[in-house]
Amino acid sequence: MKISKNSKCPCGSGLKYKNCCLKYHKGANPKNALCLMKSRYSAYAVGDYKYIIKTTHKISPYYEKNMQKWIESIRDFSKSDFKKLEIIDFVENENEAFVEFRAYIDDFIMQERSYFIKEDKWYYVKGVENENK
Ligand SMILES: [Zn+2]
Repeated sequence: MKISKNSKCPCGSGLKYKNCCLKYHKGANPKNALCLMKSRYSAYAVGDYKYIIKTTHKISPYYEKNMQKWIESIRDFSKSDFKKLEIIDFVENENEAFVEFRAYIDDFIMQERSYFIKEDKWYYVKGVENENK
């Protein structure tokens, strides 16, 4: 998806990308897991694979050992049309958080309850079932 600094941020904040998720993609730490989740969605939309890799915890089942393969799959996914992100639920405590969202990508809707943990900063771990609430 073609997104410039002056485009609206893919995360749906209504702000320009340069005033929203770009600062995280450039190195600022998201203040919470919700912010991380949104900036990861934006990173997929702009094809910032480095950010996706950097914010995925190494214990994640999605942490791909084959880096080249992972980068290619992120780049490929980024060609999709990231239409809209809806946040359904956000629960956070000191070092764990859950964000449930619905992402409208091309003609499908992806719904996930994502699990995040905080160490030096927040990391994405994986999607979990609802009973883990
Ligand atoms: Zn944003």
